[in-house]
Amino acid sequence: MAIKLFDSLSRQPRELTPSHSDGVYRFYNCGPTVYAPAHIGNFRTFVVNDVIRRLLELEFGPDRVKHVRNLTDVDDKTIRRAREEGRPLAEVTKQWTDKFHADCAALNCLPPHIEPTATGHIREQVDMIDVLMQKGHAYRAADGSVYFKVSSFDGYGRLSRVKERELQLGSALAGKTHAADADEKEDVSDFALWKSHKPDDGDNGWDSPWGRGRPGWHIECSAMSKKHLGETIDLHTGGVDLLFPHHENEIAQSECCNGTQFSKHWYHSEHLLVDGKKMSKSLGNLYTLDELVAKGFSPMALRYALLAGHPRKQLNFTLDSLHAAESAITTLYVYFSKLVQKHGDPARALAGASPFSEVVDALKNDLNTPAALGSLFSSLNKIKPENSTPSDLHAFTRATYALGILLKAEIREEITIPREVTALAEKRWAAKQAKDWPAADALRKDIAALGWSMLDRKDGYSLEPAKKA
Ligand code: AMP
Ligand code: ZN
Repeated sequence: MAIKLFDSLSRQPRELTPSHSDGVYRFYNCGPTVYAPAHIGNFRTFVVNDVIRRLLELEFGPDRVKHVRNLTDVDDKTIRRAREEGRPLAEVTKQWTDKFHADCAALNCLPPHIEPTATGHIREQVDMIDVLMQKGHAYRAADGSVYFKVSSFDGYGRLSRVKERELQLGSALAGKTHAADADEKEDVSDFALWKSHKPDDGDNGWDSPWGRGRPGWHIECSAMSKKHLGETIDLHTGGVDLLFPHHENEIAQSECCNGTQFSKHWYHSEHLLVDGKKMSKSLGNLYTLDELVAKGFSPMALRYALLAGHPRKQLNFTLDSLHAAESAITTLYVYFSKLVQKHGDPARALAGASPFSEVVDALKNDLNTPAALGSLFSSLNKIKPENSTPSDLHAFTRATYALGILLKAEIREEITIPREVTALAEKRWAAKQAKDWPAADALRKDIAALGWSMLDRKDGYSLEPAKKA
């Protein structure tokens, strides 16, 4: 079964297939602006993209996928933050890049193969603007800024359908335009490719054929994807807010510069809401991973909660959803441990028929993450570990890998139950199955001595910290 994913450009699900003769699938995902910690809304988008990356690797092979995700390390926000803190821009962006990497690792997101920065690709951006100037798609304003001439590109608006929505192109774009830029432009819908140096930019400027300045935001993705993935890429993704104007502008720049299709497929995931409202600093309803960890939740529970809703629908985040996610992760972990106990190393389990294979099928069907999680739990309830086959272990591991839910013993036990306690619990469970009651009683005492109690249930057990007398 091929992977099908909704394509925002053609407005329908389409199969993902590599378009280049080398068979390598080229995947570009717009990365974060590194001036503050990423919030959990940003991480919804990055976790969804991580599932796409994992699916692509399962489908085409790990060496047949090239994943590029940029870092926006120069723009109005990064420069303002550096100025407010009286620190060099590079120092501020490094701090938040490091933090972003640490959060991604905690959420078990695979690092992209290449993570280019805007400041590391000034030449490539200047070269691209140069071509756009030569081809008549861009012009230099009196102050040295360079603008893309939107009316020069017939395809403008195809992705976001600004024209079809019968909006006046100019007025639709006006709201997205910086007031300060407006005076210099020939048309209000034009957007900046190069911004001339302003006193507030401080040391943050580069020389160019049009004078000192810095690149606009949109050109960085066009230039970096071209450099690292070539003129035509297979898939370009981001959160829904990037569809317009960012991605519309990327298409205009790239297609006018290169004279060829920019991306074969576009995918946009919807926003995360908090308590029914848009997450925003002013409403004070913005969470970071650290804040949730400080409340005692594990990063894996957050990952699970972020995948619980369909990525193309808004998802309402509540702390209750994290409680439910935490207990789901524990159930998965206990089940996984039993499968491993029965069949040994998952890496050696042979593939074969198993209901758990439906989990990956659900993901391949337009990334239906809630259906995938539903299918994971319904199979888990159907197949008792003692009746499972090695193929179930294989398919279960493939499913949790695709979802990126890490069930390694070290992770769960670090956060919840110490390794020695689960080892004793597994022994006691085995003793009970063998009706070796004296051994089971002795093991219960050993577990209690470590501060835990084992609660017996019909089909298994759970572990809880022992209540203090
Ligand atoms: P930024 O660092 O602002 O460029 O955003 C990084 C990514 O997070 C982009 O793909 C945005 O579309 C996405 N994003 C921003 N806010 C949210 C949100 N509330 N829910 C989901 N994704 C978001
Ligand atoms: Zn981008």
